[in-house]
Amino acid sequence: MGEIPVDPKTLINILVEISEFEELLLQASQQLQHNSQLTFSLEELQAEYEADAARAARQNQGAEVTIRSLENEITQVEELLKVKKQMIIGLTDRRQVRAVTEEISTLKQRLDRLENDTINLLDKQDLLKSEATESQSESRVHGTKSRAKQEAMASDSATLSRKTKHIQEDMQRLISMLPPGEGRAVIRLREKLDQAIVHHHEGACQGCFHQLPQQQALSVDGGRTIVRCPSCMRFMVHRSWR
Ligand SMILES: [Zn+2]
Repeated sequence: MGEIPVDPKTLINILVEISEFEELLLQASQQLQHNSQLTFSLEELQAEYEADAARAARQNQGAEVTIRSLENEITQVEELLKVKKQMIIGLTDRRQVRAVTEEISTLKQRLDRLENDTINLLDKQDLLKSEATESQSESRVHGTKSRAKQEAMASDSATLSRKTKHIQEDMQRLISMLPPGEGRAVIRLREKLDQAIVHHHEGACQGCFHQLPQQQALSVDGGRTIVRCPSCMRFMVHRSWR
């Protein structure tokens, strides 16, 4: 425990120092929050890239499966055609010849359709294949960049957390140097609000924006008497003169 200052100027100096730590803590916590938000959006973006790549791969595989089954069907129809053409050679009955000829013509039409479908799908599959490759490589590139960024942010956040801990310790020491009444008030205010000690801007409390009477704002700037915002009860101090 430090010596308990009774002199308001000394007390105000301690409050000014605590307020600087409070500002540093606030900045650090904002940066930490920013880092974690950015990490979250990078993860979300990466998930989207991966989903796109997976979708493209599925479409490409789907097309491959369809092409294979079309090719199987073509082989079957070709075999059948061969059989029918063989069959027609041995036929003498005109009605039977006509029937098989019709079958052959139907099979040929079917074969044409199947071949057309296959060609169209092969064209489409070329596109799907290159889309899948592109999408996969985009996802990989983004993943690499994103991981590097996330690692940098994780290390920044770790540094910030360590700094925060030191600032809190320093602040604790300063608070313990305050007279018990002010010390308790600072702790209570910090529990309720993000800052116990604030500055004013053109007479407005920077904690709650309450407009101070001109005389009170001047007292804050003078640094000789303890001023508390009548609205939010925060301590009001001038900025550090250092
Ligand atoms: Zn206020």
